[in-house]
Amino acid sequence: MEPSVIKFDNNLYQIDVLMEGKPGRMSCYYIDSVNPILIEVGPSNSFPYLISALESLGIQNVKRSAITHLHLDHVGGIGHVVEKYRDHFVYVHELGLKHLPNPEKLWNAVASIYTEDWLKENWGKIKATPIQNIKSLSDGHSFDLGDKRNLISLYSPGHAKHHYTFYDTSSKTIFMGDTLGLIYPHGDFVQPNLPPPDFNKDQLFKSLEDISKLELNAVAIAHFGIHEKPYELIENSIKNIEMWIDFTKEINDLSNQEAATKLSVWVKNNYMSLNIDTETIDNYMKNSNFEMQIVGIRNSLN
Ligand SMILES: [Zn+2]
Repeated sequence: MEPSVIKFDNNLYQIDVLMEGKPGRMSCYYIDSVNPILIEVGPSNSFPYLISALESLGIQNVKRSAITHLHLDHVGGIGHVVEKYRDHFVYVHELGLKHLPNPEKLWNAVASIYTEDWLKENWGKIKATPIQNIKSLSDGHSFDLGDKRNLISLYSPGHAKHHYTFYDTSSKTIFMGDTLGLIYPHGDFVQPNLPPPDFNKDQLFKSLEDISKLELNAVAIAHFGIHEKPYELIENSIKNIEMWIDFTKEINDLSNQEAATKLSVWVKNNYMSLNIDTETIDNYMKNSNFEMQIVGIRNSLN
């Protein structure tokens, strides 16, 4: 399977890095400006797809990447990227300085949720990144893309405490990472993504509120793609997060696993009552870890 690359206006490329060998799961972005930048690199196993996509655009070297947060589906491949490209710098939350050169802790945190075997097979083993190739982001940092175009980093915690989003001043696109939630193409609604240990509703809503004050044409999310109607999607995200938390509170006496089953049935029924087509619903259900959502929500309520 070949990774698909879609070109949007303003030389913005969406790259499907075929996460877990499947299309429509993880998008990275490349802004082909005077001083280009890659946004997200995807998991380790996606590295060959990322490189072949970039080469299909005639790109032989990438000098810098900006990573929304330290979850391995977004940053897992960075050790390979830094090894491949000379003088590549990765910009990430300051915790990256600690964890990317010694990625065992990141690995173990994810392995405790997904199991080590699952991780190896699906996202792939991670390679350490030399500390001299890592730069820590700050809120309001501006990447000069050339021709008066900038990419501004915004500290956006809530999904993860180490989460940044990036605002492109030319295309007026916000690169959301996982701050908004999940949209599996081409649903026009948002499914919450509220994992432990960091999900925090107040922080997340503040991040979404700050983002909604920007002049936006589109949201670019990791899972998956670029979507118009940014303000409606942000509203939809907030509404659905509230609903999921309320639902989870009502089934407080159930185990995590039982609650996850209840949540998945309830979510599926909601989608069916909205007359969403079966293929889209299946896509959401297949690609959701409801137990992780239950644990994330319960953890945030304690
Ligand atoms: Zn993610």
